[in-house]
Amino acid sequence: MMNGIKVTIPGDQIGVEEEFMPGSGVYIENGKIYSSKLGLLVIDNKNKKINVEEKTRLAIPEVGDLIEGIVIGPMREDSTVVEIIKILNKKDLRGKFTGILHISQISRGRLSTILSAVSLGDWILAKVITSWPPYQLSTLENDLGIIYSTCPKCGKELILKKERLYCDKDKIFIRKKVSSKYLIKED
Ligand SMILES: [Zn+2]
Repeated sequence: MMNGIKVTIPGDQIGVEEEFMPGSGVYIENGKIYSSKLGLLVIDNKNKKINVEEKTRLAIPEVGDLIEGIVIGPMREDSTVVEIIKILNKKDLRGKFTGILHISQISRGRLSTILSAVSLGDWILAKVITSWPPYQLSTLENDLGIIYSTCPKCGKELILKKERLYCDKDKIFIRKKVSSKYLIKED
């Protein structure tokens, strides 16, 4: 095996105790070695030592961050998965991050199903509410929620009209948790 370099985030399992000596930036739980920080995984195979070296240029989601993401599903009854595309006011993300949007964190009104608030492919603006993967997301505040969506009937982009999403081809309103920062507003 060659010496390798790879980006890790806190909580990533990077090895087992029988195999490596724990170096810096790692912790051990039940014989498994985990990364304790964002950085580069450095395996020294000659000395059987594993380290995580900090790289402050990498951005990861943290509590309070606002993120833009796409609902990638699966659409479960009580939650769905969002691919985090960018963190507002931060450097580029390194690696692929996903978050979980739970039904209790979508809207202040009570929802019977997640499908009445978000759909597959919707772009959302959300707040990160946990610092550990899987990152939990929230769209409870008025300026959070969907910022771009398309019509489920015709696929045309929906516009924000009287604080609701509207398809001007089908002349229908679509009920969703929309952000006040929705990107396409009625003229
Ligand atoms: Zn339509």
